[in-house]
Amino acid sequence: MLVLSASRLYTPLEEVRNPLVFIEDGFISKVSSRGQTEVPNNASLIDIADAVLAPGFVDIHMHGGTGLDVMRASLAELPRLNRWLTTHGVTGYFPTTVAAPLDQTCAALERLADAIEGKATEGNASEARPLGIHLEGPFLSHKRRGVHPPEYLVEPTVAIFDRLWQAARGHVRMLTIAPELPGAMEVIAEASRRNACVSIGHSDAELPTARAAVKAGARHATHTFNAMRPLDHRDPGIVGEVLTDQNLTADIIADGIHVAPEVVQLFLQAKGRERAVLITDATAAAGMPDGTYQLGPIKVEVKEGKCTADGKLAGSVLTMDRAVRNITQFSDWNLQDAVRAATLNPSRAAGLAQLGQLASGSEANIVVLSPSGEVRQTIVHGRV
Ligand SMILES: [Zn+2]
Repeated sequence: MLVLSASRLYTPLEEVRNPLVFIEDGFISKVSSRGQTEVPNNASLIDIADAVLAPGFVDIHMHGGTGLDVMRASLAELPRLNRWLTTHGVTGYFPTTVAAPLDQTCAALERLADAIEGKATEGNASEARPLGIHLEGPFLSHKRRGVHPPEYLVEPTVAIFDRLWQAARGHVRMLTIAPELPGAMEVIAEASRRNACVSIGHSDAELPTARAAVKAGARHATHTFNAMRPLDHRDPGIVGEVLTDQNLTADIIADGIHVAPEVVQLFLQAKGRERAVLITDATAAAGMPDGTYQLGPIKVEVKEGKCTADGKLAGSVLTMDRAVRNITQFSDWNLQDAVRAATLNPSRAAGLAQLGQLASGSEANIVVLSPSGEVRQTIVHGRV
């Protein structure tokens, strides 16, 4: 048995001072504290002094990093991406597609399904795992497509959704869709019936349409404010629905570029500590120098950390640990609140039970943070 000790732990719902985390066979058997429990003689104790223990981060919207794009990387290349992710505290993620020719998308989905089924692992101690696929497109609004190529946008039908679903062998866990498109409500209902998290986004919807999508089964919103009809105080639109509907969780790109820090603060106040989710929307350029990178079929220019294509923002170079630290700067949220938005909240939003928390029975996926939120070490499946 392995026992980890540190100065603090975030479950993340609770803070534990002088915690002891008991790990057996890759899973947490108990979370306690020094005052409450003795360390058994046969256990090996690792004391990480002034560190903070938190659940491994879960990124439900990412397109790549360290030069690799998830739609283009081979199975042999993915472990490199997975190892890099752990250096930023991520232990689980949703590889996310962009609109591309359907054949290419299906080929990528088959490869990603292989990765999710464990065929891309090197059995390395520190590899983040792809947990499910996020389909960002092709069912997006032409008006709010961002950089998704217009020629690859498709009107939603259950038949096309099913074709993608089959290619992904049922591993689609999240679908971003513009609810105002003809056929969207049927696809929303079908996707949520299959337990995919339906997320409204890349949308020009007016408020009643966005609300109808929630009735049809949508329960999340994708990169709030970006690629959405803007909030107007007399015409609140989709953003008005996202900020006010307590049945919706929602995510945001907190890099300070996609959304102004003050508006990130407004978002956090509106969604609260229970419903706000951090994502990176990272591209292959994350963790790499400025230059030219691919985002699926899209060419992205990166200059001073800003990713653009045809002058429009095209994903980010954000990492989850940076997003966590950023919101502690942008708002009055402390590190525990910020950790929650990167762990338990995305897991719950995406229907990943048991993930994103440190509790008896959960897998020992743990990030070791400095008191200011820098990643010192990431533990996957209890392997230190
Ligand atoms: Zn994206």
